[in-house]
Amino acid sequence: MLFRFTIGVLCTPIAFPVSASFVRARPLVIMVSPNDKSPWRVVVTRRLPPAAMEMLQNAEPSLELDIWDSDDQMPRDEMIKRVSQGTDALLCVLTDKVDSELLDAAGSRLSIVSTISVGFNHIDVKECQSRSIFVCNTPSVLTETTADTAVGLVLAACRRFKEASASVYDGTWGTWTLMGYCGMDVHSSTVGIVGLGRIGAAVARRLKAFNCKLLYNDRFEMPHNADPVGAKFTSLDELLKESDIVISVCPLMPETTGLFDADKFSKMKKTAVFVNPARGELVNQGDLIDALNNGEIFSAGLDVTIPEPIDPEHPLAKCPNCFILPHIGSASKATRTAMATLGVRNVLAAYKGEDLTCQVKM
Ligand code: NAP
Repeated sequence: MLFRFTIGVLCTPIAFPVSASFVRARPLVIMVSPNDKSPWRVVVTRRLPPAAMEMLQNAEPSLELDIWDSDDQMPRDEMIKRVSQGTDALLCVLTDKVDSELLDAAGSRLSIVSTISVGFNHIDVKECQSRSIFVCNTPSVLTETTADTAVGLVLAACRRFKEASASVYDGTWGTWTLMGYCGMDVHSSTVGIVGLGRIGAAVARRLKAFNCKLLYNDRFEMPHNADPVGAKFTSLDELLKESDIVISVCPLMPETTGLFDADKFSKMKKTAVFVNPARGELVNQGDLIDALNNGEIFSAGLDVTIPEPIDPEHPLAKCPNCFILPHIGSASKATRTAMATLGVRNVLAAYKGEDLTCQVKM
């Protein structure tokens, strides 16, 4: 194929901070097919780890990169402005809402939305599909790390790590007492997993080693995930009634929004521990606060809240029996790098017309 070579300087619009230099203005040889009007332009909404950045910069033919070189969220109006300047690919993260307004701004040139997350509830996938825009996510690479975090939440919530740890730092750690900071055992407990998909199954494998009895509820029976750990399929009501620990690991969708509400908490044991490493909107947060404060359940461990970040004065954050992490489920260096490079690979696959192995379909 013949190519026209254009030598130029691509001034990547960097918002801040100016100290980050690796994607700033750099000379480029932009290869443009005679049939193409311009090279692919990729808008990236967050600073990427170096390995992912290198993949984008070394793409052949070269890409035109417009990168929000910051760890802070790209403001909505900035995102709209940038995609409206002609965009073929959007590489985004879970805090970036991709809806009709944004897609209208991007126009017909947009081919792919690649999110660096497995959850895709921030993307209007149906709207993308109706416009023939591919949506890709980053499943599997984050499964084990997120399952580690989920088990951390289970341990922290069952064993009252929040209250116990606070006493170390606020000076209330008194003499050793026989019944002080006693919580619930994780080992040998009955654990109910709602959503025995990739992460749910990885959590089950870990808790099997704690000698837990495993129940699960899903849209369908999942023998490939359940049988290796001896997990039993039950109705949601039975799971809530029988479990000492309830873990929510299903995706956020219209059907699962507010799934865990007053009705569900009232069906749990008064000693039950509720753990949510998935999405805050799966829970009716007001109902959870009531259940925690009224002793309807023992405690909760959450990696996700509404909103994020949650105000330290928020009634949920004030619950002594609610242990909250700042959405760090997949936050190991290796895993976040793997997610970012997979997000880039998805963009490059679309660019080259290759199979999209991580395409989200609804
Ligand atoms: P997955 O493999 O798709 O597993 C989710 C499972 O939930 C699937 O088996 C799914 O069934 C099932 N499910 C769907 N609707 C359900 C319902 N109403 N009741 C019970 N089960 C239902 O996804 P994953 O990779 O395990 O990830 C799960 C979620 O975790 C993601 O969607 C994301 O929101 C969250 N997450 C959070 C973090 C974090 O940092 N905190 C990190 C990674 C993931 P079908 O396949 O039949 O729909």
